[in-house]
Amino acid sequence: DEIGGEYGVENGVVAGEEAGEVFGHQPLWAKGLEHVLAQLREAGHNLADVAAISGSGQQHGTVYLNSQAAAGLAKLDPARTLEEQVQAWLARPTSPIWQDSSTTRELGEVVDAIGRERFFELTGNAPFERFSGPQIRKVFRQQPEVYAATRHVALVSSFMASVLAGRLAPWDEGDASGTHLLDIATKKLHPELLAATAEDLESRLLPVAPAAAEAGKISPYFVERFGFSPECRVILFSGDNPCSLIGLGLLAPGQAALSLGTSDTLFACTAEPRRSWEGAVFASPDGIHYMSLLCKANGSLARERVRKECGFDWTEFAEALGRTPPGNDGAMMLPYFVPEITPKTIGPVVRLRGFAAEERDRYCRAVIEAQAMSLRIRSEYLGGIRAITATGGASANKAILQIFADVLDCPVSILETTNSAALGAALRACHSRRNAAGTKCSWYDVAKPFTEPLATVQPRSAAAYTEPLAQFREFEDEFTGA
Ligand code: ADP
Repeated sequence: DEIGGEYGVENGVVAGEEAGEVFGHQPLWAKGLEHVLAQLREAGHNLADVAAISGSGQQHGTVYLNSQAAAGLAKLDPARTLEEQVQAWLARPTSPIWQDSSTTRELGEVVDAIGRERFFELTGNAPFERFSGPQIRKVFRQQPEVYAATRHVALVSSFMASVLAGRLAPWDEGDASGTHLLDIATKKLHPELLAATAEDLESRLLPVAPAAAEAGKISPYFVERFGFSPECRVILFSGDNPCSLIGLGLLAPGQAALSLGTSDTLFACTAEPRRSWEGAVFASPDGIHYMSLLCKANGSLARERVRKECGFDWTEFAEALGRTPPGNDGAMMLPYFVPEITPKTIGPVVRLRGFAAEERDRYCRAVIEAQAMSLRIRSEYLGGIRAITATGGASANKAILQIFADVLDCPVSILETTNSAALGAALRACHSRRNAAGTKCSWYDVAKPFTEPLATVQPRSAAAYTEPLAQFREFEDEFTGA
């Protein structure tokens, strides 16, 4: 916001005119990139030492580049800012991003054209408005002149890699999994999905490439302006979810992460693409595995709500958890204060069973147990979890982690890093460059020093949840229409 105010950017985005429209602003991204590089230099880092760069872009967003983009990228002028030069390459000045939910109609049209089951089988994903394909269809349908002027559709990740490399960079397999255009089994764009999305889409895309591929050497622009070595390589960027898989060290099936933010996300590294109508699946940028993900909208949002209703701070909330037994003596709740994604609910669903909200200790335990049990019921989809790494605001709370460890019946660890997507991108750059330069190194060698647990909570009372889990499943099914 500090540098975006002039473009009408608030909280990093531009609100569109239609309900649900949320856009990103490419000249601002370009300005941000230069801002960060200048800060690195000012902080005393010698950018000439950087052997390779990769990056993590927010998944799903699409950038519409015109016929001047390829030539403009190839001859970036170091006398002018990126921000200024980028403007000439855009078929539309802003681009839809992951928060844009205005594509219900277009998503429906694509799914109808393909058939729901076939769509699910091909993409590995249930249909989601926010994915890239429906965004592209909306531009194609609503702005035919913009689509006609679009020579190339980039993702946020491939756009930023293109800028750094001074040439059009392909989509990587991880980010491409979030487009509804990739056949998850072959990791290639699928002609049926392309045809159902927009006319002549294939000619506007480069073939999808493995995340470890190079986009090229860094553009002379960055050599001149920031002192990079001309030998520095740009490795394909990937999406933020796939990058955080690497940054959290999830490199083998059975390893999972639990992100306890505003919403809660449980994701795991799996051996093969595992499909679920309730989850998303992406190719891992390690080139070998896949990533399966479950997201619950009512994460910290629900925990905060209960904490405030009880008049507790987080320490008192944790003490309340300590005063109540695993299973909560049969008290349970459904804590869907806002419409839930997993399980899908139409509106809010808040139900208490076997207690009243005035019983504050039981209320606190009930919200956490509900979140953990709801994930446990669905965790089979993640391929059998053996270890969890927790991140996000609530991972600071050991009493909360203990309940997740007990219900999910596996150890829950925390790491030192809080910026796992950026770390994952850096580790990918290192792994790709070292191997390309002939220094054979494994993912384990690269990631381990950065992903060692700081502390681990072991499961203590997993057996106490056998009966509560069965009861909770019935309770949830009863009120969420499953
Ligand atoms: P996001 O990135 O989704 O905005 P964060 O991962 O930064 O969210 O988490 C922020 C949330 O963390 C806050 O809303 C708050 O509810 C929660 N939080 C912070 N400290 C604690 C704590 N000690 N125990 C439980 N939750 C906490």
